[in-house]
Amino acid sequence: MNTDEFAVRAPLATTLPVIGTSARFPVRRIYCVGRNYVAHVREMGGNETRDFPLIFQKPADAVVQNAGVVPYPPMTDDFHFELELLAAMKSGGYDVSQESALSHVYGYGICLDMTRRRLRDTPAGPSLPWELKKSFDHSAPCGPIHPVERVGHPASGRIKLEVDGHAKQDSDLSLMIWCIPEIIATLSKYYAIEPGDLIMTGTPHGVGAVLPGNVLVGTIEGLGSLTVTIGETPKKRA
Ligand code: MN
Repeated sequence: MNTDEFAVRAPLATTLPVIGTSARFPVRRIYCVGRNYVAHVREMGGNETRDFPLIFQKPADAVVQNAGVVPYPPMTDDFHFELELLAAMKSGGYDVSQESALSHVYGYGICLDMTRRRLRDTPAGPSLPWELKKSFDHSAPCGPIHPVERVGHPASGRIKLEVDGHAKQDSDLSLMIWCIPEIIATLSKYYAIEPGDLIMTGTPHGVGAVLPGNVLVGTIEGLGSLTVTIGETPKKRA
């Protein structure tokens, strides 16, 4: 490539491995759904009604690969894990019906919605928007994608997170408030779903804080595991 082609160093494309093939899944956008398990809504102090789904995004370059390191982020003293089922999209567009929604899913995986639960020295910290709490560097660890042909569409199954070997989250996918077809149908009213879009589908109860050195192992029945280690806060951008 001609070095004059870009004015500054071009960012690398984010991809994820796919089980059963050497082809990789290219990540376009990461959509996230908040407050999607009743017991987690309660532990956050909310009510458990089916309010409109809480939707936000993370940048694609926030992905951390399986077995990677998640640096402890700046501007918080309360850094939380949220283990979630990840849906990887192959198509969609606008106005996907609930009935056809699953036909647009390429596969599934395991992810962590890493969260600055409280922000330090930030006047607007406790409230909205969620951008500073959710959408930051290294905030989206994702495991490999398991194609639908291999795993089907998981609507139930154990979802479990251990920190240094101690169980923290232990629930079942069937307890989601908004199921995956409902999430896709709702998202597609606002955004054209494109190949490479990922959807983090919300976390069950049991979220908690981590510190540098902690090893997080998330498992979802049929989808293997995702492991990351929490690292030190980067001192200064190189
Ligand atoms: Mn979440």
